[in-house]
Amino acid sequence: MAQPFWESKTLSEMTRQEWESICDGCAKCCLHKFIDDEDTSEATEMQPTDYIESGEQMHYSNIVCYLLNDKKCECTRYQERTVLVPDCVQLTQENLDDVFFMPPSCSYRRLHEGRGLPSWHPLLNKGKKSAMHKAGMSVRGKVVKDNEVDMEYFDEHIVTWPLNDVD
Ligand code: SF4
Ligand code: SF4
Repeated sequence: MAQPFWESKTLSEMTRQEWESICDGCAKCCLHKFIDDEDTSEATEMQPTDYIESGEQMHYSNIVCYLLNDKKCECTRYQERTVLVPDCVQLTQENLDDVFFMPPSCSYRRLHEGRGLPSWHPLLNKGKKSAMHKAGMSVRGKVVKDNEVDMEYFDEHIVTWPLNDVD
């Protein structure tokens, strides 16, 4: 049997459609992240961020973008997302160097690091996301929306589950 495209091609060799299908739809990239840098002052410490520098540590929160449908784990305004949410992280074939900014279970990151797709990935489950939800690898049932929480108390929302990777 022929090798599936995600095994025979690199991420940059994939067609647009193949590239899009690699996204498992976990929505972990829609979570707010914070940088903890020992060199920052109290005022700038643990600020929301969309970039990271060497020596800094990234923390995930359970606070998710208000545009996410947190049951389906789908963006409700996918076409307009980068305009409506300027820090919406959009990984593309052109900015693959930023893949380390994605959670360890992100399918792009897994392929980039040579770890293959996990058994719960929709591409290995007839296009369905249920195995992923069941494995606890999506944000479903674990998040609060950023328009419903006081971001001043973000430290109460720091969580480690987005760093989990199964299989
Ligand atoms: S973390 Fe990666 S695989 Fe998951 S939704 Fe975001 S881009 Fe897709
Ligand atoms: S705009 Fe959509 S894709 Fe971007 S962070 Fe928000 S829910 Fe996620």
